[in-house]
Amino acid sequence: MADLQDWISIGREMINDRERRIHRAKKWKFDTVATHGLYDIQQALTQNNGSIMEPVYMSPAQAYADTAEMEAALSYQMPTWCYSRIANPSTYFLEEVIALLETYGTSIEASGLCTSSGMSAIRTATDPFLVKDNSLPPPNIVSCAKVYGGTFQQFWVRRHEEQGVDVRWIHNPFDLEEWRSAIDEGTRFVFGEFPSNPSLSIFDIEKVAGLAHQMNSPLIMDTTCASPALTRPLTYGADIVVHSASKVLSTSGTSISGLLIARKNIISKVGCDDMKSDFAVWAKLWPYRDNGPSLHPLGAIMTLNDMRTLRMRIAHMSKTAMSVSKYLESHPRVFRVNYPGLNSFKGHDLAQKYMKLADSGEPMFGYMLMVEIGEDHPDSSVNTRKFYDGLDMIWRATDLGRVKTVATLNAISTHQQQGETGRKLAGIHPNTVRISVGIENPDDIIADLDQAFDCI
Ligand SMILES: *Cc1c(COP(=O)(O)O)cnc(C)c1O
Repeated sequence: MADLQDWISIGREMINDRERRIHRAKKWKFDTVATHGLYDIQQALTQNNGSIMEPVYMSPAQAYADTAEMEAALSYQMPTWCYSRIANPSTYFLEEVIALLETYGTSIEASGLCTSSGMSAIRTATDPFLVKDNSLPPPNIVSCAKVYGGTFQQFWVRRHEEQGVDVRWIHNPFDLEEWRSAIDEGTRFVFGEFPSNPSLSIFDIEKVAGLAHQMNSPLIMDTTCASPALTRPLTYGADIVVHSASKVLSTSGTSISGLLIARKNIISKVGCDDMKSDFAVWAKLWPYRDNGPSLHPLGAIMTLNDMRTLRMRIAHMSKTAMSVSKYLESHPRVFRVNYPGLNSFKGHDLAQKYMKLADSGEPMFGYMLMVEIGEDHPDSSVNTRKFYDGLDMIWRATDLGRVKTVATLNAISTHQQQGETGRKLAGIHPNTVRISVGIENPDDIIADLDQAFDCI
């Protein structure tokens, strides 16, 4: 009969096996990592009836051979999944793939964690930095003002209004002095979206990471709209990355899911050594276990399935979004187009530096753009509604990152609850339409926009 020490040795062998697989995957190109991750034929033959696709383990719990294994596993002395709120073999494959993709092309080590949504990824990533610490000044958060509406609400309503946390919004993210004067001894974390949804605002990742680190604060970044196929913040000095995997990562639209990826040895002025050395794993074993934002294993595998084609889709969608932007920019009924690939984009140089297709290095700018409807003034909401209602093939919805092109009228949807000041902060006007370009033929997308303009 195996005793506790035997199980701990078996656990050590499991860890070595995982390390070997990571080492193997680190040598591959982006698409290969996305396709295979850590799942291989050996594992399929010994553990999964030879199935060439990763298993979906729907079971809530894992059984153990004997007391000794249970004791070793539940005291975290060997790798285990024990209960799907903490870990699961299916979510494991997704976590390992995203950690590899976010550190692709570098020697950086990182760990991933699946969450039930993008919002819960942000909550899980930020919560541990707001712990009580009487040796420090009252906590504050420094964040770009132009963030996803849900993030704005989580920081402003839940953190500031309900819990009294000082939230310091950065209004001009290009102004490094504004960042510098906001970040101080009380700053627990610095947060930024790249590019922001829906305003497509960006900032200098390396410089802001440097400013955060000077004050012993981590930089947490949401790169949902770029995806690791274009921008990998950990490689520019950020500490933690979060994604709404509900968007382009699970592009066919099958689940709400989130991801958190942290590099080893993050910078923080609070928290225990285990938290700093491997944030994602520490979070999974402790606060995530207690708070319960786990992802269903089926959602994890469906997300993983879509991620295998991420890079080629992003390349195709980016090219189409570029053509659509140019078409819109030259249209007489358009006031302004906001797309990082256009020369007119504020921060086009930074976009070229930080948005490059993995493996090719070619600057590419993603699938999302914003257009302001109206010939000569930015406030023609009547014409905007006529244009919007005139869309035929393109979907009217508050969604993005899909294989299908979707258009959103943000002032009455995603940014309806923020009020006039909140919308102004986010750069949303009544004539702002966000377009998330899909994988259709560009000619058909442009033809649909063209006939919608005719409805004005
Ligand atoms: C959608 C979105 C979120 C929230 O993600 P959910 O999966 O909907 O919870 C966070 N950040 C950005 C940039 C998003 O687009």
